[in-house]
Amino acid sequence: MDAMAFLDLIERKRDGGPLAAAEIQGFVHDVVAGRLPVEQVSAFLMAVLFRGMDDGERRILTESMRDSGETLAFRPDPSRPVVDKHSTGGVGDKVSLPLAPLLASLGFRVPMISGRGLGITGGTLDKLESIPGFRTDLGRERILEQVETLGFAMAGQTERMVPADRILYALRDVTGTVPSIDLITASILSKKLAEGIGALVLDVKFGRAAFMRGSPEARALADAMIRISEAAGVVTRAFLTRMDIPLGRSAGNWLEVRESVECLRGGGPQDLRELVLLFAGSLLLQTRRVATLDQGVERAGVELDSGRPFELWNRMLAAQGADEDSYRRRLALESTAPVVREVRSSRSGCLADIDARLLGEEVRRLGAGRLRSGDAVDPDVGVEGWPGIGDEVRAGEVLARVHARDDATAGEAVARLAAAFRVEDGPVAAEPRVMD
Ligand code: URA
Repeated sequence: MDAMAFLDLIERKRDGGPLAAAEIQGFVHDVVAGRLPVEQVSAFLMAVLFRGMDDGERRILTESMRDSGETLAFRPDPSRPVVDKHSTGGVGDKVSLPLAPLLASLGFRVPMISGRGLGITGGTLDKLESIPGFRTDLGRERILEQVETLGFAMAGQTERMVPADRILYALRDVTGTVPSIDLITASILSKKLAEGIGALVLDVKFGRAAFMRGSPEARALADAMIRISEAAGVVTRAFLTRMDIPLGRSAGNWLEVRESVECLRGGGPQDLRELVLLFAGSLLLQTRRVATLDQGVERAGVELDSGRPFELWNRMLAAQGADEDSYRRRLALESTAPVVREVRSSRSGCLADIDARLLGEEVRRLGAGRLRSGDAVDPDVGVEGWPGIGDEVRAGEVLARVHARDDATAGEAVARLAAAFRVEDGPVAAEPRVMD
């Protein structure tokens, strides 16, 4: 497409006109080939943000992006469906870590290709890389082989997968065009569909620490993703879940690995277990292994408690290069960070609120997250150990522990975190995590 033809496309979208399939395909192709001027691509993205796309355009954009690089293809085997989960992200969201081995243990094949954290949202790859020696850069053939033999692999996107998203996302990031449902749908689904999956469960979070603040926007995103994913032949279901308070009782890369291991051992926080079983149960239902969601959740719970998913997790660590001695030594420690300080309650009452946004910002500031993609993260720092909503706390009791690099950052975090916790006269009831 030359600059004049592309200008026609930009102007048509700017004026709310439709785009033909071949035009969208040509756009994606030329973006990857580096043929389009960056100012024109930026203008096009802004036109899409303001004018939107219809379902046909969204579908073509998503599928063209999926096909812009290498994709995974598994050998057909109806007894072992290929499935995955995607979360729009939140604070303390470590669900993927216990979920992947649980799904493998239930007989699914799971090519779990994940991303890194950005801003206050943690990323599965950063968490996994806090395990000494663990490799996430597996490459296509390795992923395919490990998924066939072990049932799952947890890896980063290969260099050659979905290059269109890499280019477009970087541009959206600096042109204010991230919050477009059309572009988010295409970005997320192009990467998931490139995994060659047959069923997908989506955790669409809303709330003060989520990408989507309100439930109506989250619902619109969930609806759009379900329609486009189903049109591409993937059995898809979405759950709207609250992200006002952090998930589980820890936020920070290694701290979340520890909590995931507790979950895999049958313990850990109830809300984490609830989501892990819900998504596994949903995939059992989506692939017709069970007749109802309740049956799926129950079956997933029995499997988790059998210890088999935990064995698979340990085998995955070995297969992906983890240094098992140093991993076990770390697991035995209360903290791997040099400094631990406590946040204490100034009054007695019931814990009524934990502001996941404030807490997430503090965890990022401690060094566990990044502001720009490519920044390094600290595996050891974070915040953990808060009580549950509704739990009684006495004046002077610990509300959370801060794991930090040094005294100065620990002290600042403790001072700021006081504002993240609200203790009131009781009783206080927690809102359900899953809204719909
Ligand atoms: N996550 C993605 O992968 N893409 C988006 O556009 C937004 C969130």
